[in-house]
Amino acid sequence: RILLDQFTKTFGATTVIDKMSLDIESGEMLALLGPSGCGKSTTLFAICGIHRMNGGRLLFGERDVTHLPSQMRNVGVVFQNYALYPHMNAFDNIAFPLMIRKMAKPEIERKVLAIAELVHIEGLLKRKPAQLSGGQQQRVALARALVREPDILLLDEPLANLDAKLRLEMRSEIRRIQQETGISAVLVTHDQVEAMSMADRIAIMDQGQIVQLAAPKDMYDEPVTDFVASFLGNPP
Ligand code: ATP
Ligand code: MG
Repeated sequence: RILLDQFTKTFGATTVIDKMSLDIESGEMLALLGPSGCGKSTTLFAICGIHRMNGGRLLFGERDVTHLPSQMRNVGVVFQNYALYPHMNAFDNIAFPLMIRKMAKPEIERKVLAIAELVHIEGLLKRKPAQLSGGQQQRVALARALVREPDILLLDEPLANLDAKLRLEMRSEIRRIQQETGISAVLVTHDQVEAMSMADRIAIMDQGQIVQLAAPKDMYDEPVTDFVASFLGNPP
């Protein structure tokens, strides 16, 4: 279980997140859904430690990681643009988080092969990113995020760069992979259909606040504000 407690983030004189709390249950996929600029990525960056928090606490289970640098937190991250290392083949990309931990070679190989099988890229491991399709690159990025068995998987608009058909396929693939590993995940998106179809729970954000947090169906049936209703495409 991951707890973000009274999280505050400021840039200069501007407060973009003001005392936001969020509880991510173990094994769930939680979608952060909201309009552009509402603070979704900022929240994700705080959880992975790319951004310093200006207030509040972050707990991974019992462990307080608020002041731990990113590399000392066990998080897996997939960004919109995959950010694979272009000069490395898929195998080395996936192995990278284990290499820097100085894990033994045979163990690295075993883990990379197991995760490659899970995301269905066993046959592509010798290829460099430029020799892979968008969907395949995204599978490699997912494998790299998962190979270290993170406490949490963070996905920032992972489907935004894919064409419509691939987006549909990857929605269910990401969900399958997340469920098979049982790793808690936060999915950032501004696509309501994506959130509704992939997440166990949805947190609707507006201007740095969580307006409602509920299971997709409950939120659709009983939105607490007109903003939530409109955002889910079920206007009052
Ligand atoms: P999008 O859907 O467009 O990705 P988002 O919900 O991810 O939006 P954030 O990137 O979290 O939004 O930004 C939240 C607010 O913080 C925005 O108003 C943005 O302009 C501001 N912001 C983000 N990063 C910085 C920064 N480095 N310096 C100043 N302001 C920032
Ligand atoms: Mg963003």
